[in-house]
Amino acid sequence: MLKIGVLALQGAVREHVAAIEASGAEAVAVKRVAELADLDGLVMPGGESTAMRRLIDKYDFLEPLKEFAQNKPVFGTCAGLILMAKRIQGQDSAHLELIDMTVERNAFGRQVDSFEAELMIHGVGEDYTGVFIRAPFIVEVGPEVEILSKHNDRIVAAKQGHFLCAAFHPELTDDYRLHQYFVKMVQSAKEVVA
Ligand code: GLN
Repeated sequence: MLKIGVLALQGAVREHVAAIEASGAEAVAVKRVAELADLDGLVMPGGESTAMRRLIDKYDFLEPLKEFAQNKPVFGTCAGLILMAKRIQGQDSAHLELIDMTVERNAFGRQVDSFEAELMIHGVGEDYTGVFIRAPFIVEVGPEVEILSKHNDRIVAAKQGHFLCAAFHPELTDDYRLHQYFVKMVQSAKEVVA
């Protein structure tokens, strides 16, 4: 069975564990670097990207995560998407710099703190309910990035090679289609290696 970790330094971990298990893979909450070793893929959850980065530094996760991402699939949601971006609007530096895209944090504004929207996600399905909470959006993407979904012309889900990201929280509904999509990515990556 595929084994997928959920980075468990901060944020919505339990819900991702449940969604991965409902999608047919084994899920583990990852609190220590050593636990990355036998994983086939990793989810970086929503939460608060600056708080998560502080903990990534505190527990020396930055380089091990970058190394893991070289050949294993990673799926970042909300704050996790911010961690994956090469560029963050208004900031000089970014975090893991995995996906060739620029993101803007808290981009839907203070007045609309949280909202739900019906999304069409390429390769995943239609009528997908996206739950957005102080969500970022993707401002622009490089040529290798495939845009999977837009909401009011703003990019809210994308894929680059074995990296997947969503500005919303797919773990907060019982629609597991996006997690199933990621499990398939993890399966194909494993078949390539085997
Ligand atoms: N606004 C948060 C950040 O910048 C992300 C919010 C979320 O993950 N729900 O990290």
